[in-house]
Amino acid sequence: MKKLVTLSLAALLIAAWSASAFASEVVVYSARKEHLIKPLFKAYTNKTGTKVKYITGKAGALLERIKAEGANTPADLFLTVDAGNLWHAAEEGVLQSLDSKELTDNIPANLRDPENRWFGLSVRARTIVYNKNEVDPAELSTYEALGDEKWKGRLLLRTSKKVYNQSLVASMIAEKGEAETEAIVKSWVENLAVAPFSSDTKTLEAAIAGVGDVAVVNTYYFGRLLKKNPDLPLAIFWPNQKTTGVHMNVSGGGVTKHAKNKSEAVKLLEWLSSDEAQGKFASLNMEYPANDSVQPDPLVAAWGEFKGNPMNVAKYGEYQAAAIKLMDRAGYK
Ligand code: FE
Repeated sequence: MKKLVTLSLAALLIAAWSASAFASEVVVYSARKEHLIKPLFKAYTNKTGTKVKYITGKAGALLERIKAEGANTPADLFLTVDAGNLWHAAEEGVLQSLDSKELTDNIPANLRDPENRWFGLSVRARTIVYNKNEVDPAELSTYEALGDEKWKGRLLLRTSKKVYNQSLVASMIAEKGEAETEAIVKSWVENLAVAPFSSDTKTLEAAIAGVGDVAVVNTYYFGRLLKKNPDLPLAIFWPNQKTTGVHMNVSGGGVTKHAKNKSEAVKLLEWLSSDEAQGKFASLNMEYPANDSVQPDPLVAAWGEFKGNPMNVAKYGEYQAAAIKLMDRAGYK
């Protein structure tokens, strides 16, 4: 009997030892979709042996869950899309400031939180797409000019409820103040071909169908349709090249305040920002790498070079509430 006890105690000790020696792990809550992160996590586990456990869900729901779980949250790393959402998570106090030279070296200052609580990992450009059969690109110039008389009944927009448009309008408020921005948003509303759509894809499909001629969307939605149909009658236009530049947004992440595996979470975030991971992170969703030493996917690069707006994307969060109210006043549904 005594021997048996000794043996099982030894077995327990070995089990405990191997758990600590081999099974380092990190838990991720991700609003970035599973097919966009799973291949990266797999590669990371193969390389480091660190297990990556994850759940995916909507940005708002995951944030609420982290808040509700409080100090007991299993989440070490929170990944989400849109700087407005990242900013919101930081404001809610669920992320911690990181002191990582690798992250600040890899990610340009305008694509991360000034307090280093979150870091952009991919860049999405929200730009103008037009129907080539109906529009000469020489007619296009800026986001603001989509309010010109000539686009009456021809403009296609996604709903103002989507954070992407809230960020776009927030960036305009940061640049030109509320009065000027409100006049511009009103002029867009007056030019709408039909009521705003629930998704970027539906907005583009309306441009293909000729419901309207010009649309404002994120480039990767255009890329997805282009992959399915290389003969798309649509093309990308880069607006504001002589002024503020194309509106840039990010997907990104931060380490939670109550991370149980903080050092593992930091290491994973650092790796996601590295040359090794950035190409794949961006190309899986046809986005641009946040790390500017990494080239975009050839399909994405084929859309041409452009000047992006260098504004710190954290501004989109700061002006988000103002943007929502402003769009409501302007009648932008
Ligand atoms: Fe999206």
